[in-house]
Amino acid sequence: MDKIEARILKIIDDHAEELQALAQDLFDHAEQGFHEYETAGKAAAFLKRLGLQTREKLAATGVKATITNGEGPHIALIGELDGLSCPSHPHATEKGFAHACGHYAQIISILGAALALTDPEVKEALNGSVTFFAVPAEEFLDASVRAEVLETEGIKYSGGKSELIRRGEFDDIDLSVTDHSLMVARGEAVDLLLGDSAASGFIGKTVYMHGKAAHAAAAPHEGVNALNAASLAMSALGMVRETFREKDYVRVHPYFRKGGEAINIVPSEVVVDMMVRAASLKAIEETSRKVDNCFKGAAMAIGAEAEIVDAQGYMPVPECPADEVLWRAADVLKEEKGIRVKEIPLGQQNAASTDLGDLAAIMPIVNFTFGGTTGALHSRDFKVESPYIANIMPAHMMALTAYHLLKDGAKDAKRIISDYKPEFTKEEYLTYVEKMH
Ligand SMILES: [Zn+2]
Repeated sequence: MDKIEARILKIIDDHAEELQALAQDLFDHAEQGFHEYETAGKAAAFLKRLGLQTREKLAATGVKATITNGEGPHIALIGELDGLSCPSHPHATEKGFAHACGHYAQIISILGAALALTDPEVKEALNGSVTFFAVPAEEFLDASVRAEVLETEGIKYSGGKSELIRRGEFDDIDLSVTDHSLMVARGEAVDLLLGDSAASGFIGKTVYMHGKAAHAAAAPHEGVNALNAASLAMSALGMVRETFREKDYVRVHPYFRKGGEAINIVPSEVVVDMMVRAASLKAIEETSRKVDNCFKGAAMAIGAEAEIVDAQGYMPVPECPADEVLWRAADVLKEEKGIRVKEIPLGQQNAASTDLGDLAAIMPIVNFTFGGTTGALHSRDFKVESPYIANIMPAHMMALTAYHLLKDGAKDAKRIISDYKPEFTKEEYLTYVEKMH
């Protein structure tokens, strides 16, 4: 361990009590995506206390502060602000939101990293800029709330990161460091998993099945039953599933948001929300067309009309093997803190999705996931088991990773940036997303 690494560990350890208290506070006050006003306020206040100038209310709630030492690359340390709807969680708020995906700890990780990296001696060892960036709305919102949320604060895109990309907030950033509670190795004997598995992308889809109301008993012949049409579409979708290829990891999971109007009326409008997920953009687009055909064909059979509205989802995340720079940071924690470190197993596909895919499409990502919690993500069982591993160790790891990226003339950051091959330029990305709307 060198002098700077030791200093990073000590600074964060010296503030562990304060960080743990803030972690508990955030955990107990989860907020909906694009509405994380209190969480964002607490993050901004913390950064201001460190003497940093902050920019706030970025895409409603995003918070940014930057430190610079020299000319090197500009890296962002990303933390997600949002909780998710999980009313049965023991720490759910009155509105039913909980941190059942552990995003609160990402905020602690960037704030803890800010504590260490703003220290004059540590900062002096960096060559470049570091932005501490709290970002809104990673969780895809239910279609019913999405429409309302997208109208607030001029939000246009579904995910916090894509909205921030649209607004130019990533224009001057060369590389992002991200973290998350363990995903692929939950329940295994590992505290820190380096790299990121590939994850699926998706589009959101809402089908408004329009029929015609009539008395359900006296005059069903005068009606057009939208529920029957939607149900027939479900059967068609079930039959189409045999065309989904294993390698594409297709998931289509609809639910009925509205099933009709009243018990004695032929349903005249049924609303079906769904996500159409797959491992590649091509497979997402192909599957989307098949799903559309199911609803259009069923509508035709019953005499109803299927109005299909697609919503931009998230891009697939490419597999990011553990970069050597992550190992350099993790080795410190392995030796000094006894942390159990592994790399992500290669060739695995996470069938869930994240808007990290949108960022990864335009810039290199250095990612790690951390343990310390038990229970499935997004479930009422998600809870902190080891407060150090869950809440403080990610801050150590964030700060150490930033240091290793930017030390020695930022040679590792420069190597990763020059090796990176973007899926899209920002303009191409925005054009593609517009097409999805
Ligand atoms: Zn998450």
